[in-house]
Amino acid sequence: MAAPRPPRFDAAAAGVAAAADAAADWAALAAAARPCVACPELAASRTHVVVGDVPAVGRPRLALVGEAPGAQEDLTGRPFVGRSGALLDQLLAEAGLDRAEAAVLNVVKCRPPGNRTPKTPEVARCSGWLRRQLELLDPPVVVALGLSAARWFLGPRTVLADVRGQPHEIGGRAVWATYHPSAAIRFGPAGAPRAGLLADLIAVAESLR
Ligand code: SF4
Repeated sequence: MAAPRPPRFDAAAAGVAAAADAAADWAALAAAARPCVACPELAASRTHVVVGDVPAVGRPRLALVGEAPGAQEDLTGRPFVGRSGALLDQLLAEAGLDRAEAAVLNVVKCRPPGNRTPKTPEVARCSGWLRRQLELLDPPVVVALGLSAARWFLGPRTVLADVRGQPHEIGGRAVWATYHPSAAIRFGPAGAPRAGLLADLIAVAESLR
């Protein structure tokens, strides 16, 4: 996958990648990730490492991948449970997708202070966890929510408007890139991001039929 690479050798990124690769299953990966302190600023300010949600049993039909936890996610330790999560759940239901059948993940597992965009070294370090999560879960379809996730899968120069609305074959998976629910909230119920996100989720649902 076209995950970002650190610009030079980063011992913390290498340590995360080694720990992730050593995890034989989801439970082992979660246990290894929860005490992670590879990013000192994030580790000092977070409440929880938000590892992600997975279906109770079986292979996920799809993986939803966002940028990073927000305030509610940091407090609860679960992904997409705040306002963005509520809208995502609503739009998934409108599209005919069941969140219970999806893995819900983030590129970066710790909340950046003030919800700032994750820094390049933070993305590079946390990539080891996400890469291994995808290997272990093996979802056939991935929906990258927002630009950070889109760039993780499709490359650092990705422009969301150029890649939306169609699947991209990456590492044997169909990767769709679309708006983050927070953009849909920011631009309001009549805004283009909400309509675009719903249209893309409907297209994903149709591809899974
Ligand atoms: S963001 Fe990822 S790599 Fe950085 S401390 Fe949190 S879990 Fe570790």
